[in-house]
Amino acid sequence: MSDTVKSWIEERRAIIHGAREAIRPAEAIDLGLIDLPRALDALNAVLELHHGERDEYGCWTCRFCSHIQQTKILHPCATVRAIEGAINGERG
Ligand SMILES: [Zn+2]
Repeated sequence: MSDTVKSWIEERRAIIHGAREAIRPAEAIDLGLIDLPRALDALNAVLELHHGERDEYGCWTCRFCSHIQQTKILHPCATVRAIEGAINGERG
């Protein structure tokens, strides 16, 4: 997982935690602050699945995509690039 995305996730966790401390539980539910940490957990799980590792030549490859496609896929793979792009506001 890239440090940028990891930092982004941790910043959002801190913001959500602060917001939940500042409001009543019912308001937290209404604002989706109960489900957001689980969504961040899901995002984190996908990024951990698509983590990079060095191959025998020293190139960074996505372990998951390389296994699924049975060929070396460079890291960051399309999945990680899509997540990074969304976080950076490059989508929609
Ligand atoms: Zn991948």
